[in-house]
Amino acid sequence: MRAGARDGVWCPERRADAARRDARAGTRASTVTRRTRHLRALGLVVLSLCAATGSAAGAGGQAVADPVPLPQPKPVETVANNDAPPQAASTCAVQLAEAGAVFRSLPVPDPGPLGCRIDDPVQLERIGDTRLSPAATLSCTTALKLVRFVRKPLREEVRATMNTEIAMLHVAASYDCRGRNRQAGAKLSEHGYGRAIDVRGLTLADGGDWAVSPRDPKDTSPAARFQRRVRALACGPFTTVLGPGSDAYHDDHFHFDLAPRNAAYCR
Ligand SMILES: [Zn+2]
Repeated sequence: MRAGARDGVWCPERRADAARRDARAGTRASTVTRRTRHLRALGLVVLSLCAATGSAAGAGGQAVADPVPLPQPKPVETVANNDAPPQAASTCAVQLAEAGAVFRSLPVPDPGPLGCRIDDPVQLERIGDTRLSPAATLSCTTALKLVRFVRKPLREEVRATMNTEIAMLHVAASYDCRGRNRQAGAKLSEHGYGRAIDVRGLTLADGGDWAVSPRDPKDTSPAARFQRRVRALACGPFTTVLGPGSDAYHDDHFHFDLAPRNAAYCR
């Protein structure tokens, strides 16, 4: 086993022993410095593993190395994003992770000729046990609003009316740099700011499906009642709610957005 390794885990005190031996052997101090930096990057998880195995080794009579200074805890870095280079996580990203979201932070996209803009963009893949299909690109604030909506009122409604859980959220659109209703020359859509998501239905944990569709206001079927409830529940958490009956563009999905408004606009 290499110096410093204990049961396959790199341990600071063993590395310190190795460093002292290196120094006695005339090894250059810069080697030790590089190793020390590397050790700090290993973080507290390694330290706690070493503390656990180290105390067991000491009890067994093995020589215990002199204490070495503990590295300082590192600040929170990226959340749920193992591919991107380390960067400070926003407060929103921390809250998103705490709310049970699986997501990755994205680079800010090119604004393009329409001047689209998305603040703190994330690709939202899961909300707890609910998968988004496909994953949605949203501003972090919008993602957080969606996560809280799905995890609380929507989930409770699904449990109360259908006695099951939400396995999948079917996403019709999320960030999309375009005009409203895809009309040329129209005002920039909230989708162009990453503040909107279109949902066309759910797959339930019991294997059932529910799809947004035009329904008679007098329809008392569970699917129709659930659709009316979803619309009502989303109005407030989101500042705009459009769906079947709003206009011809929204017959097969709900549009939820966070456009800045004085009062919610729900049709
Ligand atoms: Zn939309």
